Amino acid sequence: MSADEPLFERMALIGLGLLGSSLARVAKHKGLVRHVAGSTRSRETLERASELGFLDSIHETPQEVVAGADLVVLCSPVGTYGDIATAIAPALRGGAIVTDVGSVKQAVVRDVGPHIPEGVHLVPGHPVAGTEQSGPDAGFAELFEDRYCILTPPPGTDPQAVERVAEFWRRAGSMIEVMDPHHHDRVLAITSHLPHLIAYTIVGTASDLESQLLREAAEDSDVVRTREVIRYSAGGFRDFTRIAASPPEMWRDIFLNNRETVLEMLGRFTEDLTALQRAIRWGEGDKLFEWFDRTRTIRQGVVDMRQAGSFNPVEQKDDSAD
Ligand code: NAP
Repeated sequence: MSADEPLFERMALIGLGLLGSSLARVAKHKGLVRHVAGSTRSRETLERASELGFLDSIHETPQEVVAGADLVVLCSPVGTYGDIATAIAPALRGGAIVTDVGSVKQAVVRDVGPHIPEGVHLVPGHPVAGTEQSGPDAGFAELFEDRYCILTPPPGTDPQAVERVAEFWRRAGSMIEVMDPHHHDRVLAITSHLPHLIAYTIVGTASDLESQLLREAAEDSDVVRTREVIRYSAGGFRDFTRIAASPPEMWRDIFLNNRETVLEMLGRFTEDLTALQRAIRWGEGDKLFEWFDRTRTIRQGVVDMRQAGSFNPVEQKDDSAD
């Protein structure tokens, strides 16, 4: 097959938010597939996707969209996968490849695997690329450029199917890693899931404190206090607020579907936080310096691997997500 030829005849997307609409855009832009078919949960999103023009056909149900597709990509929150797999199973064409973009991978093998008919291939995937934006307007064709895409095929998966999915992502601009789903979920728990949990926590805690300060200020008429959390957010808080703006439904499903691993990482994190707390209490400057110096070096490694993204809030390509 020449490098310009489409890799698939018909790609069916289920879910047309940031990830689904970005995939549709890059597939059309780079000619990765001949036809892009899409479906989603709500009529509103389906109509908006139709207006934006990144689909060749729109479909009311998941069963309809997968009919005749040789590539099916689940692009909805991972908690929806089991029901979707049940619905599409009878409509999948022989030889089709089913993949996904979900941020956890053991749950995909667990929830989708049992529904995949004989002769259809399941190749779960996770493009480690995103922003805190959601919906069909948020997508863009360059989202996957220079980002890793992790594939987690279950044992015994046809290597040709894995290679076809890998080639699809390579042409979309990504670098491929193949991993065991359990390993994926451990690594992503610490690099993505826990940071999001910390961001969600600190933004909520700060907001509670702000409400209290405002209440106290109202009682003390000499003091004028207004939204200090927002006003001084450039002091480090701003980056947390960006991450904490990530879609609630998607993140609820990630935590519920990577529960044990996230709890394990949270335990490790809490131990280290307590050690730092103690160092601050006892004035152990050397310990603090050593820790911060080590983490600074880690940041340099991220920059050197060109995975740092940008923290400029006006730039869209900001890798807040997993
Ligand atoms: P999003 O922008 O919120 O889009 C989610 C889409 O899924 C929406 O179009 C929504 O439909 C649709 N949907 C929800 N439930 C559905 C159902 N039962 N049947 C069919 N469609 C349904 O979210 P996203 O960021 O694209 O995330 C999608 C997936 O990508 C998630 O599994 C997430 O873990 C993964 N992921 C996200 C990122 C990221 O940074 N955002 C990065 C890597 C992977 P309606 O709009 O019609 O309600």
